[in-house]
Amino acid sequence: MHGNEPAGVRALEAVFDRLAAEHLSVDGWFVGLIGNRAALAAGRRFLREDLNRVWVPERLADLEQGPAGLSGESLEQAELATELRPLLNGLAGRTFLLDLHTTSAPGPPFVLLEDTLPNRAFALRFPVPVILGVDERLRGTLVHHACARGATAIGFEAGQHDDQASVGRAEDAVWIALGALGLVAGSTRVDRARQRLERARSALPRYAELRHRHPVGPTDAFEMRPGFANFDAVTAGEAVATSRRGPVTAPESGLLLMPLYQQQGEDGFFLIRAVRPIWLRLSSWLRRLRAERYLHWLPGVSRHPDRPRAFVVDRHTARWRAVELFHLLGFSCVATDDGEIIVTRRRNDEVPDG
Ligand SMILES: [Zn+2]
Repeated sequence: MHGNEPAGVRALEAVFDRLAAEHLSVDGWFVGLIGNRAALAAGRRFLREDLNRVWVPERLADLEQGPAGLSGESLEQAELATELRPLLNGLAGRTFLLDLHTTSAPGPPFVLLEDTLPNRAFALRFPVPVILGVDERLRGTLVHHACARGATAIGFEAGQHDDQASVGRAEDAVWIALGALGLVAGSTRVDRARQRLERARSALPRYAELRHRHPVGPTDAFEMRPGFANFDAVTAGEAVATSRRGPVTAPESGLLLMPLYQQQGEDGFFLIRAVRPIWLRLSSWLRRLRAERYLHWLPGVSRHPDRPRAFVVDRHTARWRAVELFHLLGFSCVATDDGEIIVTRRRNDEVPDG
């Protein structure tokens, strides 16, 4: 998706080469796609606009006609949408999408996902930190588009952009996916890949949630302080960057993720916080019970007037920990300017088989 992140492409080439060289048969469909080919050739994140922020309904409707007459990222997106459409429509059965990325900062690999039970089940096959709630902070990602169309889709961040080790980790992720989905059976590559990623995780949390995103505009003169890596601990009030308006501080304590050390990009940094495994177990249990049927009985909670899967939470009345509860139940929560939180049940959160 990002042209300055070639590790995923190199990894896929290596996997396809090894499948051929070792005469391994694939039981199903295994498709590797290069997202932004023009940006990849230029070694840039994107040429005109970020290809991983444009998968929104209004834009997708424009692309229905195909790539004729388009240029730049519109052309890239139309070509990609054309390749993905039959897969997302179930041509090859159930579809799993693994979106391979790298970061400008160094650090160990991790997985990012929208918190649905099928996505969780897939993400847990990768022995790396699993970070929930990406859809509340970023709009228009390919992963969100695929999830909305019924696929199971997660992002895998393999390490720093130009670190040779990132290629190996992305390759490990692809082998783990092939093994987890039963596409390749009996290859020792899958076990070895799992062992390597397990070692890379060391003492990091198994689960965390995204709590904060620092947005960056083109005139902000945003500059991260040097030396941060993914998962570095920061404390509330600590100056982590500078901008035109002065120092930029961490609004709460947590672990730093994806600090921006490149020119292009609209995310300055993210903060995450570890989640205890007991909460995830409680949460899948509550979702299986379909506890959301009773939510409108809670103080400050009402059904959204025109959106069927959504509720409106009045933050002044609902002083209890509404966002935490709705997260447990599989809702994405977005605050509005007038003291309300719109919470929407994520689609395709049905319990996966097996
Ligand atoms: Zn990326």
